[in-house]
Amino acid sequence: MEIKINKKKKALVTGGTGFVAGWIIKKLVEAGVNVHATVRDPSDKNKVGHLLELSQNGPGSVTLFQADLLEAGSFNAAVEGCSFVFHTASPFILKFNDPQRDLIDPALKGTQNILEAVSSSDSVERVVLTSSCVAIYGDADECAFVPNNMLNESIWNTTSSAFHQPYSYSKTVAEKEAWKIAEAQEKWSLVVINPSLVLGPTVSGKSTSASHDICLQMGDGTMKAGAPPFEIGMVDVRDVADAHIRAAYIPDASGRHIVSNESCTPLKLSKMLQGEFEQYPLPNKELPKWLVWLVGPIMDKSMTRKMIAKNMGHSWKADNSKSKEKLGIEYRSLKSSIIEMFQQMIDEGSFKKS
Ligand code: NAP
Repeated sequence: MEIKINKKKKALVTGGTGFVAGWIIKKLVEAGVNVHATVRDPSDKNKVGHLLELSQNGPGSVTLFQADLLEAGSFNAAVEGCSFVFHTASPFILKFNDPQRDLIDPALKGTQNILEAVSSSDSVERVVLTSSCVAIYGDADECAFVPNNMLNESIWNTTSSAFHQPYSYSKTVAEKEAWKIAEAQEKWSLVVINPSLVLGPTVSGKSTSASHDICLQMGDGTMKAGAPPFEIGMVDVRDVADAHIRAAYIPDASGRHIVSNESCTPLKLSKMLQGEFEQYPLPNKELPKWLVWLVGPIMDKSMTRKMIAKNMGHSWKADNSKSKEKLGIEYRSLKSSIIEMFQQMIDEGSFKKS
């Protein structure tokens, strides 16, 4: 499906340093678009160097703006003159102390702040919000109770809270707030992308996301004794970026879009890596659920028995047909995504050989 990108119209990407944002910015700049990218610290060359390089290579450009999700009015300058806004910024972290302060507030207040800036501008036509499949479901055991045992865009996560799956809760409240604000006005339209676990290389060559923490655990020996029996949808970061761009530039795109290639487990990912990276302590078997239930919370304080009971050993399925039919996404193989990601993390010095 061909899409037309209007190079004369500027686009804003929030969370410019991020894994997903990097690919959105790269694709836009290579298509000739002038991009405004918000970052928390524009002077941090380690985090923004690749964005400056993309800008130098053109044909489009990147202009950096300082913005923080928690600061009211922080996005106003960056939004000015932009026709399209890609709101990717939101904390995706596995380790946190206070779920309200570290996850929920930035996700929710950040969405309010950026959409306030959008509504007070006269230029924005469309906002593409990076939500997540976790705004659709809370725990994998819910797949057993949905039509055809398959998650779809009409379903909402109703089971997460600040105390159980707080990241999922942060994404759910943020997406709900975005729909509420969008539906109360007629100046701009909202299209939402709901990716599953994102894999693949970064534009910067550096690890930033919780996706990298998960890949790290595959190769640093954490799963040497065995992988948790944990099935979840997975998708390449370049397909996720493509979905965002299509959601912006296909005029009649609307609603939510599950962007997920296939369901996979850490053991299946490990098998994809084993031929190429035998020298790393990759898992070669799955641990029984009872053992993860017993030992998991002792080994990893962020795991709870409730989380394990409701997510391990359950089958996870989501219907990605809307992303193919309405956005024209053609998913690339997960094997190449995980191999490129793992290789990039080796090059970065993330893990040692056993
Ligand atoms: P990432 O690399 O960690 O990117 C997150 C971005 O959010 C970073 O640019 C970070 O900026 C920014 N951010 C965090 N807190 C902020 C704050 N208080 N103010 C301003 N910016 C802030 O993670 P990612 O994987 O690309 O995630 C991007 C989006 O995709 C998120 O909305 C995430 O929920 C969603 N998502 C990710 C996955 C996945 O598997 N990766 C799956 C589904 C949805 P700093 O560099 O300054 O920290």
